[in-house]
Amino acid sequence: MSEQKKAPFEECARLLDQLANTHSLSREEYALLVRSASPELASYAAQKAVPLRKQWYGTDVYLRGLIEISSYCRNDCFYCGIRRGNTSCERYRLTPGQILDCCERGFALGFRTFVLQGGEDAFYTDAILCELIRSIKERCPGCAVTLSLGERSRESYEQLFAAGADRYLLRHETADPVHYAKLHPPVQTLENRMRCLRDLREIGYQVGCGFMVGSPYQTDDCLAADLKFIEEFQPDMCGIGPFIPHHATPFAQCPAGSVEQTLFLLSVIRLICPHILLPATTALGTLSSDGRERGILAGANVIMPNLSPEEDRGKYELYDNKLYTGAEAAEHRRRLEERLQAIGYTAVTARGDVRYSKIENENLKGKNI
Ligand code: SF4
Repeated sequence: MSEQKKAPFEECARLLDQLANTHSLSREEYALLVRSASPELASYAAQKAVPLRKQWYGTDVYLRGLIEISSYCRNDCFYCGIRRGNTSCERYRLTPGQILDCCERGFALGFRTFVLQGGEDAFYTDAILCELIRSIKERCPGCAVTLSLGERSRESYEQLFAAGADRYLLRHETADPVHYAKLHPPVQTLENRMRCLRDLREIGYQVGCGFMVGSPYQTDDCLAADLKFIEEFQPDMCGIGPFIPHHATPFAQCPAGSVEQTLFLLSVIRLICPHILLPATTALGTLSSDGRERGILAGANVIMPNLSPEEDRGKYELYDNKLYTGAEAAEHRRRLEERLQAIGYTAVTARGDVRYSKIENENLKGKNI
């Protein structure tokens, strides 16, 4: 158990300076930062994070077209509104043809990355997905395909990569095995989640991990473990957002995570991995009307507007009151562009691959978790 005392601002600022230079701290130092966070410290962290992000990506904010392909899931994560055990939600599954239509619509709107996200749905076999990925690449030349379809076998990941998938998002949820066991039934293990992330990295995907901020049973030390894991794994992308309860889950009565803590952690993650692609997530926008903008100002550089068919958007209910209208909708790109412009940033629909220097690329080769 780590020491519970908070550190004064000056000591934390010194740690953030060190992190901005070396991109590394001990787990205890991360825990100290998490525990000592304050509005003043968050503002200091953002001041350090923004120039680093600008060094790599300027003021560009990458827009990704998010397509939520299925709300069927074989898993029962305790925090998730579309978990298998929730019998009260209306399920839907897009056909490959519908997904292609979404991509073509997005392509016409200027999107050059499509994120196919869904529950772990056995309908999407490797054969169906491989054909789908190939068709997207044919019909939307030059685009990147990101998959976010949960845990699969290494062979499956290999086939999808060979078919043309570029990136894979798989939140690790928590790097602490005890905490992981409190968020998932015993059949789901952190060990397998990490195996997946390792496989994805070795196969050659740009890989994203991530976690919820303020999830039930999360401690400062859990978050420190997450930060240390990010430092060691060096993901290309990292999705973090505040936990938001869903009424039909075991965590229905748990309080939501904090926007402020999420913003602070976005800045810290930018300091750990200056090159990382870091979304200002929908959950942030759901809890705070200007959450997306505040995320960008804290160091994020990706936004994922919703490209799913309009009639299905409300059904992909991971948590209560999830946003899917207004500036969240891909069709309202202009509105989002204006909001970003107002804070000095430019919405970019280019592929937006992760940027590494050649030296870093060499150092990362064969890196294990
Ligand atoms: S979090 Fe993902 S894997 Fe877990 S129940 Fe929800 S959709 Fe399924």
